[in-house]
Amino acid sequence: MSRFLNEKYSSLKPYVPGEQPQDMPRLIKLNTNESPFPPSKKVLEVITPEQSSRLRLYSDPECRPLTDMIAKFYKVMPSNVITGNGSDEILSFCFQAFCPNGAVFADITYGFYKVFAQFYGIDAQIIPLRDDFTIEVDDYAQATGTVFIANPNAPTGIALTLDKIERLLKQNPERLVIVDEAYVDFGAQSAVELLPYYSNLLIVQTFSKSRSLAGARLGFAIGSDELIADLNKMKFSFNPYNVNRLSILAGAAAMADVKYFDSCRKEIMAIREYTVAQLKCLGFTVPNSSTNFIFAGYPERFSGQAYYDFLRSRGILVRHFGEPRTTDFVRITVGLRSDMDEFLSVTSEFLEGIE
Ligand code: PMP
Repeated sequence: MSRFLNEKYSSLKPYVPGEQPQDMPRLIKLNTNESPFPPSKKVLEVITPEQSSRLRLYSDPECRPLTDMIAKFYKVMPSNVITGNGSDEILSFCFQAFCPNGAVFADITYGFYKVFAQFYGIDAQIIPLRDDFTIEVDDYAQATGTVFIANPNAPTGIALTLDKIERLLKQNPERLVIVDEAYVDFGAQSAVELLPYYSNLLIVQTFSKSRSLAGARLGFAIGSDELIADLNKMKFSFNPYNVNRLSILAGAAAMADVKYFDSCRKEIMAIREYTVAQLKCLGFTVPNSSTNFIFAGYPERFSGQAYYDFLRSRGILVRHFGEPRTTDFVRITVGLRSDMDEFLSVTSEFLEGIE
């Protein structure tokens, strides 16, 4: 820490992203929930030399045609959509803009919520998950701060049904509920259809998972005209050109290629179900996943750290969160079928080694 850093940030604990090895010829990377499939061919077609030469110009602050494509896909108006440099940026704006009465979120959820709350000096009310890692929405009934719910949740993979989200919205119409649907395309139900009925609902999504564009850094929010205008106020006070020219084109093309999007997510769900079944056969505890990752552990036999270390030594990268309630588990991103077969075979070897 230099002597110039504002003292209010001296105890800030930044988010720790999963490892991004740049030279990974033999590593199987199952640690940051990226898609194992490349972006749509339509994306590659729009990133032309001509478009690249236009990088000398600033991008469109309105992010057209990306916002238009998102609006079309979700059957809302462009004024109901804002795009950002990853959904992390959108979430950051939400914490800054919408938490005068604090933020409310689960003890086990996306780790960035805690970081944003600390960054912006927001009181965080932490609601523990139940013992089986599920969210009980009635536990939120008395909470007054803005609620952040990852649905499906991370790193557990467990989804809430839409009627549970609706119950949360009904608890207090004066309280904003922000539903982070980063993984919703892998088997959960989006709350977008509730938007016409609940002005206290804001939905955040990303292109990083189901649309194979993690490196393009693209996220978006859908909500009422008023909420989106508020978020634009934040954006235009921070970085009007928050999405770069090529990512705008890439995102619009990815959104338009519904066929490819559907085939990728279906394939990922099928590979997930196959892998989960195999892990259960081996004796693992695996909560029901509606995401592109699997949260798995075998608390009776070994620690998450020992399993992580063994996989790492065999070139398989997964994620281990060393928090007290998650330390027995690892989070495994669903990769290609061949990746998962290799992962399962190394897992069997690990189990044999500890018998
Ligand atoms: N929400 C959740 C629940 C996530 O797991 C992630 C990915 N780390 C994000 C939001 C942010 O994704 P991105 O910034 O890539 O859109």
